[in-house]
Amino acid sequence: MYVLRELLQEAHESGVAIGHFNISDLVLLKAAFSSAQALNVPVLVGLSEGEREFVGTRQIAAFVQSLREEFGFPIFLNADHTHSLAKGVEAAQAGFDSIVFDLSALPFEENVCQTKQAVEALKAINPSMLVEGEIGDIGTGSVIHESSSVLSKGLSTPEEARQFVESTGVDILAPAVGNMHGMLKSMVQGETKKHLDIERIAAIKRAAQVFLTLHGGSGTDDEDLRKAIRAGINIVHINTELRVAWRRGLEQSLTKQSHEVVLYKILPSVVDSVKEVVGSRLKLFNSRQLVHGA
Ligand SMILES: [Zn+2]
Repeated sequence: MYVLRELLQEAHESGVAIGHFNISDLVLLKAAFSSAQALNVPVLVGLSEGEREFVGTRQIAAFVQSLREEFGFPIFLNADHTHSLAKGVEAAQAGFDSIVFDLSALPFEENVCQTKQAVEALKAINPSMLVEGEIGDIGTGSVIHESSSVLSKGLSTPEEARQFVESTGVDILAPAVGNMHGMLKSMVQGETKKHLDIERIAAIKRAAQVFLTLHGGSGTDDEDLRKAIRAGINIVHINTELRVAWRRGLEQSLTKQSHEVVLYKILPSVVDSVKEVVGSRLKLFNSRQLVHGA
């Protein structure tokens, strides 16, 4: 059986990152799983509290576990952006491999205190579950934004990263390094890109000495992503790009087959539309390994 911590360690040593894709229906899950299978690289699928509420926490855990068992494939399940211990306990009991315990909206000391308690409580349920904590401000909501007011504020410092990791015992840290959730309209149109503070990532990695996650990866410049992974990012989250591809794919499929009502005839091209995004992101995140393996 695959263990997420071991695969993250391997990714770290090989200079690649594991792609994390948010899912909230079978189309997105199929797209993430089959893209990863085609490239033979591990993959994380994640659901925020809202996404879990829609799909069912225990139900999605059973689905992902069945894929992992039937295909012997390293697909892992993350409880993304969890804001209360009760929701975290629910995910831990359902068998999630990791959790993003996100109290970054609270003052730093309060974030430290409550995250430490959550690490202890969640590890008591499942010692191998990885707990990720979040510091700094990367905005909320994987949606299309009008303006980029969040981009320059609330960047994490190496010192607070070190202090947070030492005090809480988290396995993974999500810092604010120029990333943000969601995409600007101009990014959806392909006119602008997000840029990352690569030196800050490297300094945070040296100070914190844990796995690092980049949230809000959608719309980020490819070269910045490569450099960020080299500087110490081990997991990259993509959500908004998938949502955009899902919607465009569905609109095109419905337009093309305007009288069709059979879902399994309408939805495969939506899966393909999302797969295109997942595949290209996975290739980028794993480029070092794929080049050697090819
Ligand atoms: Zn996120």
